[in-house]
Amino acid sequence: ATPVAVMVGLGAAARKGVLVRDAAALEALGKATDLAFDKTGTLTEGRPRLRTVQVLGGLDTAELLAIAASLERDSEHPIARGLVAAHGGALRPVEGFRAHPGGGISGSVAGTAYRLGSAAFLGVAFPTEDPDGTSVGLAGPTGLLGVFVLGDRLRPEASAVVARLRGQGLRLHLFTGDREAPGRAMAQAAGIDSVAAGLRPEEKLERIKALQASGAVVGFVGDGVNDAPALAQADCGIAMGSGAGQQGTGAAMAAAPLVLLRAGLEPVLEARRLADRTARIIR
Ligand code: ADP
Ligand code: MG
Repeated sequence: ATPVAVMVGLGAAARKGVLVRDAAALEALGKATDLAFDKTGTLTEGRPRLRTVQVLGGLDTAELLAIAASLERDSEHPIARGLVAAHGGALRPVEGFRAHPGGGISGSVAGTAYRLGSAAFLGVAFPTEDPDGTSVGLAGPTGLLGVFVLGDRLRPEASAVVARLRGQGLRLHLFTGDREAPGRAMAQAAGIDSVAAGLRPEEKLERIKALQASGAVVGFVGDGVNDAPALAQADCGIAMGSGAGQQGTGAAMAAAPLVLLRAGLEPVLEARRLADRTARIIR
């Protein structure tokens, strides 16, 4: 009877906005003790808006933004969309573009090599850091040229979804590549106490392994290339989909056994309900 029960569960899941590629992962979600969330694009809307630009070198704000937006053209990160939108104008050709998941990007514009990303990625300290915004710096051969501060909003349903999940007895965590202050600010707004910040993609994976080693059954929800290793390691990886207000990356969707096909975090609750129902049918 098991295959039939599983099929019933999966058909219902698709109708509820959850693509299930692996029935065992759905079952693990039903038994989960811990559920961890990525921040940018998962707990937040993933539409960071540019708040301020700090000019540190010889280039003015418009020039800094033109270079940064051009470098970001081929990046899938939400920060990239924020910078391209803030620039609004024509983009310049970029040579040797490279994405460094969890850190930033690099490439050359008009023969000059640039790096754009977190202070850790650039190996510098920013003069000031907005505690609840995400700061990214643009560095050229002469050093740090400017710092962009972007602000993203918590998804409107996030705190209600978090409260429901906590009510189900789950321990909740936030794992972010962003710094401690913006990580804490978002976690607090969502109602999550356990925060690990400044994590590189492999460190998100290590966090999950550590929980598993202590006997936990772990779900992880993420959207980015930086989340792919953690999504694959979790007992139940859940990727944000793309389209319909979602902007999950192909790498995250490929790594996760569950993909949310509807916008927002509510499908996570649907997935939990379906996991329970499927488990009951199988038993
Ligand atoms: P999160 O875990 O919150 O989704 P990431 O791991 O993707 O964050 O990124 C961590 C940090 O690396 C970001 O806060 C940002 O400072 C920097 N970063 C990553 N990708 C980019 C990019 N494309 N452009 C600029 N900065 C980036
Ligand atoms: Mg993300």
